Amino acid sequence: MVRQEPSFRESVDLMFNRAAALMDLPPGLEEKIRVCNATYTVRFGVRLRGQIQTFTGYRAVHSEHMEPVKGGIRFALSVNQDEVEALAALMTYKCALIDAPFGGSKGGLCIDPRQYEEHELERITRRFAYELAKRDLINPSQNVPAPDMGTGEREMAWIADQYARMNTTDINALACVTGKPLNAGGIYGRVEATGRGVQYALREFFRHPEDVAKAQLSGKLDGKRVIVQGLGNVGYHAAKFLSEEDGATITGIIERDGALFDPEGLDVDAVHNWIARHGGVTGYPDATHTAEGAAVLEEECDILIPAALEGVINLTNAHRIKAPLIIEAANGPVTAGADEILQQKGTVIIPDMYANAGGVTVSYFEWVKNLSHIRFGRMQRRQEEARHQLVVDQLESLSAALGKTWSPTPDFKQKYLRGADELELVRSGLDDAMREAYQTMRVLWHEREDVKDLRTSAYLVSIDKVARSYRAKGL
Ligand code: GLU
Repeated sequence: MVRQEPSFRESVDLMFNRAAALMDLPPGLEEKIRVCNATYTVRFGVRLRGQIQTFTGYRAVHSEHMEPVKGGIRFALSVNQDEVEALAALMTYKCALIDAPFGGSKGGLCIDPRQYEEHELERITRRFAYELAKRDLINPSQNVPAPDMGTGEREMAWIADQYARMNTTDINALACVTGKPLNAGGIYGRVEATGRGVQYALREFFRHPEDVAKAQLSGKLDGKRVIVQGLGNVGYHAAKFLSEEDGATITGIIERDGALFDPEGLDVDAVHNWIARHGGVTGYPDATHTAEGAAVLEEECDILIPAALEGVINLTNAHRIKAPLIIEAANGPVTAGADEILQQKGTVIIPDMYANAGGVTVSYFEWVKNLSHIRFGRMQRRQEEARHQLVVDQLESLSAALGKTWSPTPDFKQKYLRGADELELVRSGLDDAMREAYQTMRVLWHEREDVKDLRTSAYLVSIDKVARSYRAKGL
């Protein structure tokens, strides 16, 4: 009999159930946590090109154990209620795992953004934002959206402005959405954040030789062969940082119109520029092109990074995946059925709710920045530099007193004297969040006999935190 693939939301629920079965939750609480609290569907009309076009959008609120609830807004034709509910649930677990003080939410608009001019998209986005804001589904203290597939800084700026126009006396209006451009209340490092988080997650994984051995790998990230699916914002930054800073070799890049493969390593920026100019990877001169892109998921490599859509590793291809380590940069790229097959094969999966939590982590910093109305580091930076200067002066006079010339490594002074700016602080906060969360997950993975994989331990950690919040509220 052919096994049926469950829907995305069912897949998330199945994974949740697998973990919840290992917990001792009070009766009823398990269900309370699993179910999506509310989903609002809106259909609105916008007059475009001489006629009214109707659009369908959603905002799902999965859990309000902490408020505001948080999660992106996706613009794609594939958006539907099941998908936003699955994604909202993942947001709940992601925020809990990474210690971002939010409940989980997600939104989506059924639209192919490439079919519209910028001014048309602005009108559609503002109208969608208006529908959500008037029901407090966009609100600095209740529900704070962010970018997701098909949206970015530009859309977030429109949403923030729309909210501000509707709430002219709200001094915290900028905190109603994150992922805004820098000149409209954004924060340094938000655009790169999810990809950067994937890099920090892998660095942390490779700091633990026992974990690396579980994936039948050894050594460090340096020289590891990596295949990336999707060179969007997340995939691009992850691939770029891993190749430029950690010595990984990006052997494959899979896009909508096929895949590029080069065992010697692809130039991520060159491929990214090619896609920007030509709309796809076809015709890229310096690699082998395969029209059947999905087949490259099954190529030999050390690390596979699905950074595009959900469900790409499923019952049909899971048994052919050769990568011993998968890091889920996308949300839900591995279905529940595929997850079981891969686990039996011994594949180690670094799960989505951890691997791609970098985005919401930096969103958290942006939200705090907006509420505090001051950029990070503004008060301390020069004071820090002055204190460091004192140390350098002392070292110089000490060596002079000893009749020696102090000659530190060339970039020491420049690095040591400079006070941390916002970008450095954001990266440090993100690195800390990614390290801490990984360490909590791995403890359960190693210590509990019944916890066979990182996903189950990620669920255990987050469900436990959500359960504690509910209990503290008296539920
Ligand atoms: N859309 C991103 C995610 O799936 C970011 C959410 C946020 O920053 O709130 O995690």
